[in-house]
Amino acid sequence: MAILEIKEYGEPVLREKSLPAKEITPEILNLIRDMAETMYVASGVGLSAPQVGVLKRIIVIDGQEEGLIALINPKIVRREGEVVEEEGCLSFPEIYSEVKRSSRVTVEALTQKGERIEITKEGLIARALQHEIDHLDGILFIDKVGRTKRQILLNKLKNQKK
Ligand SMILES: [Zn+2]
Repeated sequence: MAILEIKEYGEPVLREKSLPAKEITPEILNLIRDMAETMYVASGVGLSAPQVGVLKRIIVIDGQEEGLIALINPKIVRREGEVVEEEGCLSFPEIYSEVKRSSRVTVEALTQKGERIEITKEGLIARALQHEIDHLDGILFIDKVGRTKRQILLNKLKNQKK
């Protein structure tokens, strides 16, 4: 296992679209293990492959008592409700903002064993699913806030780096 480097805002890879994983190879299983370890060490709720520089449609989420949720080629097939809550991202250290998300989502994906599953989640896990799946299309949480708020957040991020 290995801790991977998390790409931070400004790295072009975060804006690219990831490709579906055609088959589940040992490399993909290794990547999932490393992503999970990286997420837990960084105390994140979720992590997507593009955040570690791999343009593949793979996400991991800390499912709390349910354990690790690792999804390959995840796709949101149903959304319900709306909720605004504070959100952060491992690619934006110490930046948080309220973001509007669906309160409940159903996601279709492949498991590490190649089984097709459909899961329905709400609360923090539903939020994490939407956030991580957005990453697979190069969409970041700051895209979901107003222009003025976004500028404030980006200035804060820039000032941190000085
Ligand atoms: Zn993120």
